[in-house]
Amino acid sequence: MAYKKVERPELTLGEKLYIPAVLKGLGLTMKYFLKRKKFTRQYPEEPTVVPEGYRGLPALVKDDEGRVKCVACQMCEWVCPPEAIRIVPQELPGDNPVEKGPKEFDLDTLRCIFCGLCEEACPEEAIFLSREFEFAGQSREEMIFNKEKLLEIGGIRTQGEKKWKKEANAGFSRQGPIR
Ligand code: SF4
Ligand code: SF4
Repeated sequence: MAYKKVERPELTLGEKLYIPAVLKGLGLTMKYFLKRKKFTRQYPEEPTVVPEGYRGLPALVKDDEGRVKCVACQMCEWVCPPEAIRIVPQELPGDNPVEKGPKEFDLDTLRCIFCGLCEEACPEEAIFLSREFEFAGQSREEMIFNKEKLLEIGGIRTQGEKKWKKEANAGFSRQGPIR
């Protein structure tokens, strides 16, 4: 196989010293430092506005009648890749159109990778990725958010599935994802 031999070029004295290259690099840094628009945000005094479709902390929602939309089917728990969700279902009393609800619903925020699969899998539109990104804690235990906390973050959703309403169950149609 033919090949071409390329001679290694000799370095000049300046190249061997490295100082001119360092000065050139510093000059470039200074140029951008002095000329470029600054993007520093005075956080937290100046709040960060997250874009449309931002995938923040998964949260549970209630409907406009104050009912927890989750029916504890455990689809989200099953589909969650890092197993960040833990649900303890309970049977609901009386003649509820919904048989089950979550007795406990824990989300390990340290495990969650914000993939959105729980939202995709949920048949009740009961869990969605909120825009919440400001959460911190002093311990691992603190970072496991329980049902009450997740409902507080999620708030109320007036659209979507309404399994609680018998008449809505009779002929309801999916209204598409809620954002
Ligand atoms: S966003 Fe992904 S990782 Fe986080 S709880 Fe949902 S399914 Fe699990
Ligand atoms: S949040 Fe949705 S998918 Fe998860 S248990 Fe509740 S109803 Fe099922």
